[in-house]
Order: sequence, then structure tokens, then C-alpha cells
Amino acid sequence: MFKKPKLLPLRIHPDPILSQSSAELTADELPQMRELIADMGRTMYENEGCGLAAIQVGVAKRLLVYDVSEEQDDLHALINPRVVETSKSCETADEGCLSFPNLFEPIERATKVRVEGLDAKGKPVTLDAEDFLARVLQHEIDHLEGLTMLNRMDDALRQQALREYFGLPGGGSSSNGSDKAPGKTSTGPGL
Ligand SMILES: [Zn+2]
Repeated sequence: MFKKPKLLPLRIHPDPILSQSSAELTADELPQMRELIADMGRTMYENEGCGLAAIQVGVAKRLLVYDVSEEQDDLHALINPRVVETSKSCETADEGCLSFPNLFEPIERATKVRVEGLDAKGKPVTLDAEDFLARVLQHEIDHLEGLTMLNRMDDALRQQALREYFGLPGGGSSSNGSDKAPGKTSTGPGL
């Protein structure tokens, strides 16, 4: 019987679960993940995200979903993913997170990564990802370790980002004649 995927509540910073590290899934647990993967897909799409880790919906298991297609019709799941190779070349770009609504900050990531894991059916997969997909996977795999964008910022940027996030004075560059494009802080994909 087809069950309509559910929209799950997102865990939002400063929810302490976001700093928890997630557990590996066992072979026995994989069949139970099918429904969660569908629910996470719907939750990601409805929140205009391109990636979502299970911990962001309160499940501390090593599972993530992503879709970097233009049409947003190409959902993938990765189970027990790990980065096995990282390029030396890095790129800094604005990054958002569904657990930090409306916050977009420059984060440095490797431009290429090789990731190994299992797909939704439990089949081993190796992904050679570059550019935006590489960024998405590094961001989501960080979530599985209990790390967020905040852990990838230097102290000065982190303090500024937190002031902006909590709407405190001195937060963000938008208040002092910003170099950000108008409306940029409320658009862009969350991860
Ligand atoms: Zn995120």
C-alpha cells in the first residue's frame, strides 16, 4: 500500500540534537528506512532544500537525502556515507541550512569528494561529486557527525552569524550597506 509521505518537523538551531553524532544503520534496520526516506524527501522539497540529514528531523541515524537536479525530481538517499577522498582545492560559497532558517554564510568546502555508502536499497555506491553536490554531501555528512555550518566558521564569522540568526544588533552585513544581493538572505537552497 502506498502511503503518502509525511511532512516532518525540522529540528532548528539551537536544538541540542544537532550536535549529537548519528549511529550507523545495521542491515536489519534498512527496510524500516524506506518510509523515513520518503518522508525526508517530502520534508526537504517542501522546505526548498537540496539536502537533509536524518538528525535534522530528530533521527540520530546515518542517513541523508539530497536532490541537486534543476527540476527537483531526482531524490537520492545515502546510508552510512563516508568521505573517502577529498580534493586539495577548496571553494568558498554562501551556504544555507534547513536547521538555520534564513541564514546564508560563506563556507569553505573541498571542490571534489569521493563518498562511499549504501543507496536506498542497501546497495553499495561510490559517488565522485564535485562543486555543488560535493558541498551538499560535505554539509550533510557533517550533520551526521554532529557538526553544523557553525563548526566550519572562524570565531569572528560565527559570532556575526549567530547575531544575525538571533536577530541581535551587529549581526550580518545587511545592516551596514551590505555587499549581499537584495533578498539573498531569504532565498537559496537549505541543506
Ligand atoms: Zn544543514
